[in-house]
Amino acid sequence: MKIICIGRNYAEHIRELNNEVPDEPVIFIKPDSALLRNNAPFFLPEFSNDVHHEVELVIKINKLGKHIPLSFARDYYSEIALGIDFTARDLQTKLKEKSLPWEKAKGFDHSAVISKFMPLDHFGFSQKDSIKSLNFSLQKNNVTVQQGNTDFMINNIDEIISHVSQYFTLKIGDYIFTGTPAGVGKVSPNDHLTGFIEDTEMFSFGVK
Ligand code: MG
Repeated sequence: MKIICIGRNYAEHIRELNNEVPDEPVIFIKPDSALLRNNAPFFLPEFSNDVHHEVELVIKINKLGKHIPLSFARDYYSEIALGIDFTARDLQTKLKEKSLPWEKAKGFDHSAVISKFMPLDHFGFSQKDSIKSLNFSLQKNNVTVQQGNTDFMINNIDEIISHVSQYFTLKIGDYIFTGTPAGVGKVSPNDHLTGFIEDTEMFSFGVK
């Protein structure tokens, strides 16, 4: 199982971090040791003083595929979850300044929160429908801090699957994080994070 993540996929978020709009999807990978599930608490790592939440829709691959044409991409997933791509922003900034890989800032233990998965038909999409106008959000201590809608993705989910599969064989059970909207911010001890897809609560857990 691998965890593939897409960066810089929402224009407003690119602006808030002063990054350039990429001309093709930005891809990075987290190891399986990054997974955090079942509303388990997130323990802040000692090497960072600025860990940010990035709420993202997560797709689970349900079919083996390589070089997947865009028109077939929808056949490769049927469930969706909500996740957090926890990011040690201070460390990431240092690594970016030196043009080094992001792994330590993005792939550390428990940096990939993934909720339960829900079938897409729960949100009104048949297996033939591409995902459109799907809302998701994150609350920190009962205040909404991030709101996203799939219509604002630079590369939609089918485009992501097709592009990623040109480089990495997708296997059953792989996860793809699809990028975060604006509103990323620091988490602190005793914060509580609750995530929603539309009105369905997907996760709720504490920061320690
Ligand atoms: Mg992210």
